[in-house]
Amino acid sequence: MFLYDVSHLPIDRKERVNIPPHDIPYRPAEERVQDFEEAFHTYDLETIRVEAERCIACPEPQPCVEACPLHNNIPGALWYMSQGDPIKGIAVYHQTSGMSEICGRVCPQEVLCEGSCTIGHVDTPVHIGMLEASSATYERTTKGYPSIPPGSIKPTGQRVAVVGSGPAGLMVAERLAKRGHSITVYEAWPKPGGVLVYGIPNFKLDKSIINDKVRYLEEVLNVKFVCNTKIGAEGNPTVDDLLEEYDAVFLGTGAGIEASMGIPGEDLPGVYHSTDYLVRINLPEEYLPPEKRSKPEVEGKRVAVIGGGDTAMDCLRTSIRMKAKEVTCVYRRSEAEMPGGIKDRKLAKQEGAKFEFLTAPVEFIAGEDGKLKAMKCVRMRLGEPDKSGRRRPIPIEGSEFVMDVDLVVLALGYWPDPLIRDTTKGLDSDKWGLIKINPETGETSKEGVYAGGDNVTGPSLVVIAAAAGRTAAEHMHKYLESKRRVKRSGNGRNEKSAELKAE
Ligand SMILES: Cc1cc2nc3c(=O)[nH]c(=O)nc-3n(C[C@H](O)[C@H](O)[C@H](O)COP(=O)(O)OP(=O)(O)OC[C@H]3O[C@@H](n4cnc5c(N)ncnc54)[C@H](O)[C@@H]3O)c2cc1C
Repeated sequence: MFLYDVSHLPIDRKERVNIPPHDIPYRPAEERVQDFEEAFHTYDLETIRVEAERCIACPEPQPCVEACPLHNNIPGALWYMSQGDPIKGIAVYHQTSGMSEICGRVCPQEVLCEGSCTIGHVDTPVHIGMLEASSATYERTTKGYPSIPPGSIKPTGQRVAVVGSGPAGLMVAERLAKRGHSITVYEAWPKPGGVLVYGIPNFKLDKSIINDKVRYLEEVLNVKFVCNTKIGAEGNPTVDDLLEEYDAVFLGTGAGIEASMGIPGEDLPGVYHSTDYLVRINLPEEYLPPEKRSKPEVEGKRVAVIGGGDTAMDCLRTSIRMKAKEVTCVYRRSEAEMPGGIKDRKLAKQEGAKFEFLTAPVEFIAGEDGKLKAMKCVRMRLGEPDKSGRRRPIPIEGSEFVMDVDLVVLALGYWPDPLIRDTTKGLDSDKWGLIKINPETGETSKEGVYAGGDNVTGPSLVVIAAAAGRTAAEHMHKYLESKRRVKRSGNGRNEKSAELKAE
């Protein structure tokens, strides 16, 4: 049973089902494309209260809790919100998450908590994501993160290195720091945050949320961030070096290498990879190494984004905000097979993105100036389902055509960087380069080394990476405790034998 169990409360379910839903307060499309600010407003306090009242606190097992990878006690939190106390509501989330402001904004709730909400059988599901995001933002901007009473964290004297500062790494850092371990996070980019900063644009997730979170970890929990440091790269420590200095290591290195198409013209000026495109446009200079500080010229151009996931939608919406003349998503399957969240696709359509389904480029063509001017495409039809369960796209012979474009962004998918695998002795990975772990504990094949997030699953979701971080943190704590006990008893023996020798 949860600490804030509400299933026993005398809730008038019939009355609650009749409360009308409060839609997410999106800014009008024509207004929001003029800037890079968040595309929505959060709920005000009264709206939080009324929307939360729509939750009927289903008896256990509660479908929304089951569907949440973090198993947040959503009905418990929403009950406090419905009583006009969003701060207590968010305190319920803090027990299992600590990422509410982020997950509330970027989770595909329609296939997780909201997708399984009982109210969804008769009406619009409770807007769980917006309630979580709004309450968490209310807490941060009015009261700040909950303080830690002095002396309540007892230092263990044990040191942990976290490699990578995305949601998996941040979750491990927070949970182990709260247990008294001393945490150092190593990050390859100039600032912490992983894809939350170096990928997801401001109009979905404002950077101030991540910056405040990092400040909280540094100032309240004494987590140390060492940026511009790629573990395993020349001149930097390897994982084996870290193991000499730290009691345990967590690998939250994500999947940052972008897939290519392997077609002619991919290296033409005007063809970008998605992360490169997004970070150059969406981040201020101080977030970027000098070689990435120039911004692509997008205004007035015809932009094609190749791919159909969340990253592709972010590239489309970024191009629209950069005042491209025309922005088209080119995807080789049909809309039904698209991998990204429905929410982002709907917003991209509202903002003016066009879609060319069942189409794939086969060549990028240069103009006389040597820059991209068009792409040759082929139409596709769908065959039998492939390993992913989605129907395989098959080129239609003789269907080639030329599409005029000035800028292309490839948003095709990601792989983990092989660097860690190649520089760490005894770290097992599979044929795709994904680190092998025990999914119950996050343990890798190497003692004291744990892993979780996209480097284990392949490109996935923020909440799944965060949940993997939480599992690993729990088991790393147990490992560190047992190591401490062994150390203590080992030291005890040494002290005894020293005493005996002295006698
Ligand atoms: C553009 C984009 C949009 C997305 N949108 C959404 C969305 O709307 N909703 C959603 O749920 N998910 C979304 N995702 C997916 C989500 O962001 C990822 O699943 C999640 O960030 C993975 O978390 P992680 O901690 O495993 O890794 P990451 O967030 O990738 O962080 C890994 C970090 O490790 C660092 N690193 C790597 N190697 C080293 C090394 N050797 N030494 C030091 N540091 C290293 C990297 O620089 C990086 O900062 C999106 C992804 C992208 C790319």
